[in-house]
Amino acid sequence: MQLNIKDKFNKELPADPILENTRRQVEKACFSYATPKQTEKPELLHVSPEMLKNLGLTEEDAKSEAFLKTFTGNSVLPNTKPYAMCYGGHQFGNWAGQLGDGRAINLTEVEHDNKTWAIQLKGAGETPYSRTADGLAVLRSSVREYLCSEAMYHLGVPTTRALSLSLSGDQVLRDMLYDGNAAYEKGAIVCRVAPSFLRFGSYQLLAARQDKDTLKTLVDYTIKHHFPHLGTPSKDTYLQFFQTVVDTTLKMIIHWQRVGFVHGVMNTDNLSILGQTIDYGPYGWLEGYDNNWTPNTTDRQHKRYRFGAQLDVGLWNLFQLANALLLLIEEAEGLELILNGYREKAATQYLEMMRSKLGLFSTEENDAQLVSNLEETLQLTETDMTLFFRNLSHFSADKPSEGLDLIKDAFYALDEVSDDIKQQWNTWFKTYADRLQNETLSAEDRQTKMNRINPKYVLRNYMSQLAIDAADKGDYHLIDELFNLLKKPYDEQPENQKWFAKRPDWARNKVGCSMLSCSS
Ligand code: AMP
Ligand code: MG
Repeated sequence: MQLNIKDKFNKELPADPILENTRRQVEKACFSYATPKQTEKPELLHVSPEMLKNLGLTEEDAKSEAFLKTFTGNSVLPNTKPYAMCYGGHQFGNWAGQLGDGRAINLTEVEHDNKTWAIQLKGAGETPYSRTADGLAVLRSSVREYLCSEAMYHLGVPTTRALSLSLSGDQVLRDMLYDGNAAYEKGAIVCRVAPSFLRFGSYQLLAARQDKDTLKTLVDYTIKHHFPHLGTPSKDTYLQFFQTVVDTTLKMIIHWQRVGFVHGVMNTDNLSILGQTIDYGPYGWLEGYDNNWTPNTTDRQHKRYRFGAQLDVGLWNLFQLANALLLLIEEAEGLELILNGYREKAATQYLEMMRSKLGLFSTEENDAQLVSNLEETLQLTETDMTLFFRNLSHFSADKPSEGLDLIKDAFYALDEVSDDIKQQWNTWFKTYADRLQNETLSAEDRQTKMNRINPKYVLRNYMSQLAIDAADKGDYHLIDELFNLLKKPYDEQPENQKWFAKRPDWARNKVGCSMLSCSS
């Protein structure tokens, strides 16, 4: 197995020079060296063929002992020094101080085809940032991260990727429901891959400590390696850097709204500086369209990170990043100006995205009203988001009265669709039909375009849970089936029609299928 190692992070940023793996506050450093844990009986469960290729590896490599050992942390690549990254973060609105990679260890950075990838193991044991926890991950959360990050990529949503999913062979103790019933679960390790794992919190922690020198080193490093088109770092490039982060973060969240993804824990330590979806924990997919829905049981009461709040939370988080960069830029005005532009951009891009979901590719003044009426109508009774939008592509502007019949599969309880609700839908379909008359695309072309925007298959929570339950019993075929299904989320795949269906009744309140805890 041959990887083209480029350990620039390791060489260019200040590292914590003290002893390895001692839990503590780490100052004036961006990372600490950490050695992955030896595991009892590592077993490779799945590999992403696309990520193999991206790293310059082959299917043969994936079958080797070296691959298994490297990507479960049981052997360290020659000429590399694995490390855990130092960061802080705002958790649920409160500054939490130093957090850091408590259970993620970066192996190295690899260059292939002119792209650089940081390779990280999640669940490979303690680091200086583990605080009171064990540095490990369990099978259920690892399956969820592995499947979802690759699925998001194929949906066209910016995201970190995953190379492999393995069992460590060790048992891990977890209190899954936080109810005092801890139990042993299978330990697992996901190998995650991204151009960088830097987060908003990486910059925030340095600013919180007034460590301007290290902050400058880190920002300059980030610009040099990840935003090289911005040129030589200066106050001006810092502002352009911030503008880029604002734009990419916004774009990412608009994609989440498009596909019905709820991150669940949008703390500033879980926002990538590259605007990629990162840290798949208690995330979830909308089934019934509901702006108030959050999958995260920890957030059940305040619903800070609910579906309908994600764009606002994005801005809140960007404010925190701006505050950190202020230490470097020293003037608030430029940062404020950029932040002030967010809401308008968000509104414009959201409307454009929703228009495209409806197959509207021209612009009309009343479109915002059409969209908000739709959102309201969708929430009158539990209505499946994915089924609704996918089936809407069959709508004919000449037959608005057939609309309701087209989408009836999306209703979770047909008997709850009252005459009043039917009436509201018919009114909406009528307006929609009138609006479609002004589009220039043929119905056929509109359908084709809509079907590239509205996925047919997403990773519904119960689907992950089925794969997890089977995997827990040693049966991994469903992981493979879902992995392959979700590679082509916009294709019809008639042989996979069974996955184009509402969440089954048994899954409504089952653990892992509706809401999830942070325990992982
Ligand atoms: P998360 O909510 O998963 O984003 O994690 C928040 C913080 O807790 C991060 O600093 C994680 O590295 C840390 N953390 C979560 N689980 C563990 C664990 N099992 N062992 C060590 N640190 C953990
Ligand atoms: Mg995290």
